[in-house]
Amino acid sequence: MRKRYLFTPGPTPVPPEVLEAVGAPVVHHRSPDFRPVYERVLARLRQVFRTEGDVLLFGSSGTGAFESAVANLVSPGEPHLVVSAGNFGERWVAMLTAYGAELDVLRYAWGETPDADDLRARLRQREAKAVWLVQSETSTGVVADVRALAAAAKEAGALVVVDAVSSLGAVPCETGAWGLDVVVSGSQKALMCPPGLGLAAVSETAFAARGSSPRFYFDWERTRRAQRQLDAPFTPPVSLVAGLDVALGLLLEEGLEAAFERHVRLGRAARAGVKALGLELFSPDEDRSAVVTAARAPEGIDAGEVVRGVRDRFGVTIANGQGELKGKIFRLGHIGWFDVFDVVVQLAAVELVLADLGAPVERGAAASAALDAFAAEPAPT
Ligand code: PLP
Repeated sequence: MRKRYLFTPGPTPVPPEVLEAVGAPVVHHRSPDFRPVYERVLARLRQVFRTEGDVLLFGSSGTGAFESAVANLVSPGEPHLVVSAGNFGERWVAMLTAYGAELDVLRYAWGETPDADDLRARLRQREAKAVWLVQSETSTGVVADVRALAAAAKEAGALVVVDAVSSLGAVPCETGAWGLDVVVSGSQKALMCPPGLGLAAVSETAFAARGSSPRFYFDWERTRRAQRQLDAPFTPPVSLVAGLDVALGLLLEEGLEAAFERHVRLGRAARAGVKALGLELFSPDEDRSAVVTAARAPEGIDAGEVVRGVRDRFGVTIANGQGELKGKIFRLGHIGWFDVFDVVVQLAAVELVLADLGAPVERGAAASAALDAFAAEPAPT
């Protein structure tokens, strides 16, 4: 018997109440057993996305919600601009390229933070129908200032599309107030559900700007029309929707602001712990980066050895770097159903493995630093 701990930045641990709802007997999606749940989920999603508009729900991973945005907004040959500073920015690039967009990329080195003035300058050189952003670049730990980037895009008259897959519910994402035209997310991160639901908040402006690319399952029109009648164009994953209902209820019961504050504290705890281990942070040492903390592996140690070590010795799953960062960094997740002890367990497991690998670590210092940092009052965000 081995206890297992899931500490990646997605999928994330799922609370027992949510698992119970997911495991309940399957109901028919056009029956009175399901309709009230569906109605509540759609209303709760609007609260969590902070929008008055439609939030469309697809049976897919987050990338399906991405594809809905690209398939509905992009016509071949149209100018678009992606702001990319990591793996998920590059996913927008790959997808927009596949759909034939005339693409410009404002590209940063992985780990850099995109800057609104750079975007402003780029949009002066070349127009774009839409600017495609990543709020939390899970591959690097950077959370971008989407509010400022969106303002720069809007000044130039572009639509704004945001990947909020790992940020929604963890850090503020004000779809309505910031004028975000499309925000996409997924169920398996800060929304505390199993994987399998792709979500897309779509403004009237974005809906009116649909393009000519072929689409069927991910057609916004089809899904929006059905959802507005509390129907679904295809069989929805009813069990996941039931789980999401409970998870969103938990999140709203805590309160979004309280959840954001908890994530700020979790981020502080993780960063304080990493520094106390004598490691260099890869992700920024700032409150906004509250989703995932990335640490550089010590000189001469491959991050994969740390990730495998904590998994094989303690049943603890953390994440390696992705793409060009594989082997160089490891990532500690802290979104969704997390408290400070989840951070402490990750740090303690890493500490033991690093000690085995010959790194000079001071026993217990990381846990202690994390607990202190978590206890400090966060500054208002
Ligand atoms: N965007 C970000 C920022 C992510 O963290 C992820 C998940 O890893 C995705 C997109 C892709 O989501 P999915 O794996 O659910 O398709």
